[in-house]
Amino acid sequence: MDLSDFLDRLGSHRRASLVALDFDGTLAEIVDDPGSARPVAGVTELLERLAGQLGEVAVVSGRPVGFLSDRFVDCPSVTLVGLYGLELCRAGQLEEHPDTARWRVAVQESVRDLSDRLPDGAAVEDKGASLTVHYRAAPTQADRVTAAAREVATGTGLELRHAKMSIELHPPVRVDKGTVLADLSERHGGPVCFIGDDLGDLRAFDALDELEALGRPTLRVAVSGAETPPALLERADEVVDGPNGAVGLLSRFED
Ligand SMILES: [Mg+2]
Repeated sequence: MDLSDFLDRLGSHRRASLVALDFDGTLAEIVDDPGSARPVAGVTELLERLAGQLGEVAVVSGRPVGFLSDRFVDCPSVTLVGLYGLELCRAGQLEEHPDTARWRVAVQESVRDLSDRLPDGAAVEDKGASLTVHYRAAPTQADRVTAAAREVATGTGLELRHAKMSIELHPPVRVDKGTVLADLSERHGGPVCFIGDDLGDLRAFDALDELEALGRPTLRVAVSGAETPPALLERADEVVDGPNGAVGLLSRFED
């Protein structure tokens, strides 16, 4: 639905509402060194305030929960969902998907294997129960990186997923941002909003389509930037400009 209708519905069902957000490119600027990504100014304070006013505020990311919790230490009321749903931390309690543990060995073997064969400029991020190969610093090597990742995925049974200038190898467990949003929304009967900037966020938009068909007020927000996929922009009810635009929109969700 459009933003003003959503704000009306949010205003009358605040405690039953769910706001879920991607991290990289949505709450943090995309940076060359993925380890240095930080929420933009004002995000953590705003999310903590919103978490106190709404049913639930959740950051849903491909990053591990440990990475997110380092960056959202000031947000004890915000739910953190990592590795596309393999890990979840709510009110300080960490939950892991039951199928996650048995894939850790395959992930660690893949991290070692890929580290040995990636071209210069590409790097493996070890996320414990999944991994990401980043090639932002070596964009001309995309084909070589993809070929190496595909070979390792085939050998280990890990699932290959494309993202901005990176490739994820993920346990073949049926979780993604769509299943996460569907699960989270079951705890709350009211409006649901998702804000994201990348291909993986389309699954969350799919989940919103299903919720909307059930009569739930929904808002799909795309954060635009140089690399935002056109498919996400086309599906969005509202487009904002970069993480600072996302903050501006979120501030309209406050009391
Ligand atoms: Mg993102």
